[in-house]
Amino acid sequence: MTESGRPQLFTNGTVWMGADSPDQCALLVVDGRVAAVGDDAEAAAGEDAERIDLAGGFLMPSFGEGHAHPIFGGLEDCGPRIRQCTSVDEIIAEVRRYAKENPEKEWILGASYDGSFAEGGLFDARWLDDAVSDRPVVLRAWDYHTVWCNSKALEMAGIDADTPEPELGEIPRRADGSPLGVLREWGAIDLVNAVNPGHDFEDRVDALKRASEHFASLGVTWVQDAWVESDDIDVYLAAANRGLLSTRFNLALLADPRHFPASLPDMVQARARVEAVGSAHLTAHSVKFFADGVVENETGALLEPYCSGMHDHGMLVWSPEHLAESVQAVDAAGFQAHIHAIGDAAVRTALDAIEHAASVNGPSVNRPAIAHVQLAAPADLARFAELGVVPVMQPLWAQLDALMTVLTVPRLGPERTEQQYRMRTLVDSGATLSFGSDWPCSSAAPLDGISVGVSRMTVDGEPSGGWTADERLEVAAALTAYTAGVATLALADRTSEGWGQITPGASADLVWLSADPRTRPALDIPGIRVQATYLAGSCTYLATAHSKEHA
Ligand SMILES: [Zn+2]
Repeated sequence: MTESGRPQLFTNGTVWMGADSPDQCALLVVDGRVAAVGDDAEAAAGEDAERIDLAGGFLMPSFGEGHAHPIFGGLEDCGPRIRQCTSVDEIIAEVRRYAKENPEKEWILGASYDGSFAEGGLFDARWLDDAVSDRPVVLRAWDYHTVWCNSKALEMAGIDADTPEPELGEIPRRADGSPLGVLREWGAIDLVNAVNPGHDFEDRVDALKRASEHFASLGVTWVQDAWVESDDIDVYLAAANRGLLSTRFNLALLADPRHFPASLPDMVQARARVEAVGSAHLTAHSVKFFADGVVENETGALLEPYCSGMHDHGMLVWSPEHLAESVQAVDAAGFQAHIHAIGDAAVRTALDAIEHAASVNGPSVNRPAIAHVQLAAPADLARFAELGVVPVMQPLWAQLDALMTVLTVPRLGPERTEQQYRMRTLVDSGATLSFGSDWPCSSAAPLDGISVGVSRMTVDGEPSGGWTADERLEVAAALTAYTAGVATLALADRTSEGWGQITPGASADLVWLSADPRTRPALDIPGIRVQATYLAGSCTYLATAHSKEHA
């Protein structure tokens, strides 16, 4: 519905309804819902309809974001701007600049830096001391599983040569046993978080608002926040109550193995608080589990050891028995399990846990999901379809960029490297593939991800023909994963109108693109412009005349 409540008639472009339907030339929206398509839309539109000229562009169901961290992403603008830095020296210079311009900040908090700038991801506290030594500095790495502290932050957290290795974490050290400056995974990061006051409440509400607008500008109308802790709930409730959410959000409440199942009643209560707000833009029907860490830190859990010999098999965050019982418990409580699993051992443990839950509770109606699925044993891939598990994958990661060649390939070795991100195999097996960006770990733009998902090439077109080319997707399959696939993950069909495909009665959640991605070379897809985004017929983003297509 427009502000005026008039019906909307979209014409003069291609209307893509979803993979199984023929293209149409027009779409009529009445009261925020799809009313008619094609010639019927033209015929049914009355005199009073608002006519929207697509200018030869492409109208399709809006994108869903299957896995992201909106508050983290929005907060990256609140500290030193280290995301765009291309070297350790640039990061240090930016931290120095920010500290100088913000003398009142007692803590310098920043995100997120590229972990491939230092060999093995080993960043030294003393490098940051050069920029700031009198105040604590804590920077998160792009993976959000690692932080880099200066010496003052380590000192305030009480981390020194005598600190024992924490459970579920790691403190890399110098030869003399003193902490280097990097902390890996919660067990270690929590030591500094315990004394770090974090960002204040209004900054976080603001960050969420900015994140929501950022997603709308990319054609996204639904976002899975894949890591929500208890103090984030109030940020969401405040944003919803103040009408600041330009997109729908579903919250995945973090389950910590050190506090589960004791924390389950709090999750049930958090869900009830969200439901009590009665916002059409906010749900909290998921629980997040981290089955493992990440390959780049050697905390991703592997069936066979890492090649480098630093660690053996990585880190399972939950014992298989504890994960199985816990997934069963959240499923019984009506939550969808959203399980981070990167390594093949983590993927297997997650699938086993879901299978266990089904054996106790019966087949799940909550559509359990496994996020990332970077490496899975060939025998486990078919289990996604068999168990009704939704893979939530990041198409942008399926390329031979520096992250892959510098941090991943040396750790996995050539054979396992070729076995990563098997999206095509999963689709062909009958699984419902869904996509997400993991923003701010990587670009939130669906068109950036789709470009890689269909080409498996870097922005420079390397390697020609694509890396592991058998796993390339058709453009329509990639669009489906980012629309109907995410709608399946979101349980959108449980709401009265549904979204993710253009069908009569569906919510008019739409994105208008400047060109049809199916007709463009894969590497040009990121240059297609988002002209407008609609959520239930309301325009949540409109490109200005100045924002040029950069194809
Ligand atoms: Zn994530």
